[in-house]
Amino acid sequence: MKKTILITGATGYIGSWVTKFLLEKEYNVRITVRDKSKVEKFKFLEEIAEKSVGELEVFEADLLKENSFDEAAKGAYAIMHVASPFTLSHKDAIKDLIEPAVKGTQNVLNAANKSDSVKKVILTSSVAAIHGDNKDMSELGIEEFTEEHYNTSSSVEHQPYSFSKVSAEKEAWKMYEAQNQWELIVINPSFVMGPLLVSETKSGSITFMHDLLSGKFRTGAPELYFGFVDVRDIADAHILALENENAKGRHILCESVRSVIELRDIIEKLYPKKFKLPLMKAPKFLLLIIGKSFGLTNKFVSRNIGWKIKLNNTKSINELGVKYKPLETTVKEMIEKMEENKMI
Ligand code: NAP
Repeated sequence: MKKTILITGATGYIGSWVTKFLLEKEYNVRITVRDKSKVEKFKFLEEIAEKSVGELEVFEADLLKENSFDEAAKGAYAIMHVASPFTLSHKDAIKDLIEPAVKGTQNVLNAANKSDSVKKVILTSSVAAIHGDNKDMSELGIEEFTEEHYNTSSSVEHQPYSFSKVSAEKEAWKMYEAQNQWELIVINPSFVMGPLLVSETKSGSITFMHDLLSGKFRTGAPELYFGFVDVRDIADAHILALENENAKGRHILCESVRSVIELRDIIEKLYPKKFKLPLMKAPKFLLLIIGKSFGLTNKFVSRNIGWKIKLNNTKSINELGVKYKPLETTVKEMIEKMEENKMI
């Protein structure tokens, strides 16, 4: 019998790939959307379902509405909880980021508890739940971040998105400990890049690539290091976590750590002189002076610019079986798709 999988955030950048892969693997997929009357938001998923072996059902639910996931969870074998705001611009950190992340996790996991049927929960967390500022690594006196680490440097005021992710993941582990019906497997992606299935998203991944290509950092890019990973590898990781009987705990997903300037070099090599890429590295002292106009606080600049990080991805390879696409391929296919969608 086909298993039924409930996925939240299916209309987003990552969730849409997870949904596509589930449909192609003959699962019954239940997606939740905030407003079912806005058919244009999920029509592309219905079109994918028509060409796939799996079936698609659409339910209405909101992260902030108690009990709203209960109906969709009833009868499902697993829940993939992907939905959470990931935006580079927010007005109110608590309302826009932290509440949907934490209350959303509580509401989704309460639905799992009430379902009697859910045996597995796969949570899309982030490396932002592993560490906050890049400087954390040297302050902790460690050589690399692993699944053992939790972000302790973020707060409502400082790096609130990261705080929303670590708070939501901790809440999930707390609720996991309080029951014995379902397993919890956590995926901790680094910065996700790669082609999109959606034509509209507020995902920071797309905003960042758009800003990089369109000249926002033309006069100088911050010396900022990120782990990068392909969106399709993240979707694969969710399916592997679902199907692998032995999958357990947290998983850092990262192909490689690169600086923004190294990313610029990859793009320039692929598309010489095509985009308004950063001309050079912005000096840290200058960012301390003008960073505010780019939304960077002095605390962020001093604790992140110039600090290298290392993310250990061996668990994702050895235990989940993720095979990483090279970042060059990821970036090329992301830009091709953004151009096709007229996003740049
Ligand atoms: P996205 O494209 O903005 O997707 C976010 C999804 O969450 C959308 O489907 C959105 O629905 C849904 N959502 C937001 N607020 C909601 C609410 N109140 N009720 C119901 N649904 C709500 O972002 P993404 O990049 O795919 O991110 C998806 C997940 O991956 C998030 O948990 C994010 O923290 C995590 N993550 C992302 C990255 C990355 O680099 N992109 C890295 C690590 C972890 P609407 O379509 O209705 O807005």
